[in-house]
Amino acid sequence: AGRDCYRFYDEGISHTMRQRLMLEQQLRLATQPEADLGLELYLQPKVTLPAGQIQGAEALLRWNHPEKGMIAPAEFIPLAEESRLILALDRWVFARTCRTVKRWRLLGLKMPRISINLSARHLQEPDLVNWCVETVMSCGLVPGDLELEITETAFVNLADMVLKQLVALRHAGFSLALDDFGAGYSSLTYLCRLPLDVVKIDRALVADLCQDERAAILLRGVVQLLDRLGFSVVAEGVETDQQADLLHAIGCTTGQGYLFYRPMPADDFIRVYQDYCIA
Ligand code: C2E
Ligand code: CA
Ligand code: CA
Ligand code: CA
Repeated sequence: AGRDCYRFYDEGISHTMRQRLMLEQQLRLATQPEADLGLELYLQPKVTLPAGQIQGAEALLRWNHPEKGMIAPAEFIPLAEESRLILALDRWVFARTCRTVKRWRLLGLKMPRISINLSARHLQEPDLVNWCVETVMSCGLVPGDLELEITETAFVNLADMVLKQLVALRHAGFSLALDDFGAGYSSLTYLCRLPLDVVKIDRALVADLCQDERAAILLRGVVQLLDRLGFSVVAEGVETDQQADLLHAIGCTTGQGYLFYRPMPADDFIRVYQDYCIA
């Protein structure tokens, strides 16, 4: 509007922008170490196919907003990824996971390997490896207790820095998983170049599996390829018995999905896991 005075030209936009800013600010506060502002650690088991034995679990963030109630990651992770806020969120999950596992261990409980999502942005952070190792050790754990899931979009422009960080993480003992494989612009070449242990097949490929025969042929080939390259393969988003059976038939031996377990609060998970270990 001129002369140091401006007005939003659209009330709708200014409203959404204010909303976003507010959410972002609240999220930032919630990641403070002692804050109790609704961030919660959920875990979803990973299981053998087709038997369904628990092999591990993935840490998934939930935000129980003081006024709005449960907000799904789809609503705030993309927002957080636009700034360094995602680093704070990921570190919150990482630290909370380590402390939770420590608590279980002190209680004499067994626990499987837990995997944690790391946003691509982390791979640009020079202190990433040190921070991860120090956090793990401060809880009396070793890096091998954890797996780090990184989506393939992180490798679109495979910078030296990214590769160095991955090598260092793996050297430190973390298991590394490629997340959402097949969802975007998958490049097969980085399968050979990256130091990975696990490849997670995106649930879009799993969803197509029973719909059409060509999708099944494709996935069978992919699973064989990954297997021959020495990766463990995890299928995401397994929702039906038919999918689980077909996945097993094409050689995929680990899965994750609503058919077996939904993500659950960490305390529920440990109960489920203990019952499962005893049974
Ligand atoms: P993701 O890493 O691919 O995680 C798996 C998502 O699939 C989770 O969604 C999970 O609840 C959902 N899921 C599991 N089984 C099924 C199934 O059978 N069917 C369907 N339709 N969905 C299933 P969620 O928890 O809503 O998380 C969505 C995404 O948000 C995650 O996708 C991940 O990219 C991101 N995210 C969640 N927590 C974190 C975190 O701590 N850090 C980062 N960087 N990203 C996170
Ligand atoms: Ca993941
Ligand atoms: Ca995924
Ligand atoms: Ca994802």
